[in-house]
Amino acid sequence: MSAPLDLNFVTSASTLSGLPETDAEVAIVGRSNVGKSSLLNALGRRRKVAHVSKTPGRTQLLNCYSAGGGATVVDCPGYGYAAVSKATRAGWQPMIEGYLRDREPLTMVMTLVDGEIGPTKLDVAMLSWLRQEALPHTVVATKHDKVKASARERRKRDLAAACQLVRSDVVWVSAVTGVGIDRLRDLTRLWLGLPA
Ligand code: GDP
Repeated sequence: MSAPLDLNFVTSASTLSGLPETDAEVAIVGRSNVGKSSLLNALGRRRKVAHVSKTPGRTQLLNCYSAGGGATVVDCPGYGYAAVSKATRAGWQPMIEGYLRDREPLTMVMTLVDGEIGPTKLDVAMLSWLRQEALPHTVVATKHDKVKASARERRKRDLAAACQLVRSDVVWVSAVTGVGIDRLRDLTRLWLGLPA
């Protein structure tokens, strides 16, 4: 059992300069509905860690949480949200990319992929961009409980392959059953330089 992360909302920002100084930071990216808020809440074991990121107006901002010990976690806007106009979308993609590229204390980009449906075109595009920029990233597959036990081995292999990875590179989690949450908490502490 790994203790929950002590995540506390600090601020929302639309630019890099609006974010607080930090020693180490993990960013979380993924398309809307991938299970980002549920995962943040599971990592923190608080029902409401991520409610701010669902607040209207904040869905398009970088939502910053303190993780204690001078470390932070940043929840990036979900990409590919259908209800948002193309113009708005075109505006925030550069915002996310600029943040990821220029944020010096960033030690890991947690890239969420829906385990039930596998990587979308946008997920694949994000992964290839992260590779191109040589940014450290880890694929986290969500909704493990939604994949039938009999299909899991094959799905794990296929999802990894679609991300150009091997099975052991992908961290599978479920915010519902708690599968993988301890491991991801441990990894996050490691990425943030926090004691185990
Ligand atoms: P976000 O838009 O990425 O923040 O996604 P949410 O956390 O709001 O989740 C989107 C939907 O997927 C909601 O209906 C959640 O209840 C559901 N969901 C999220 N994580 C899980 C999971 O691990 N298992 C299952 N079964 N459903 C999940």
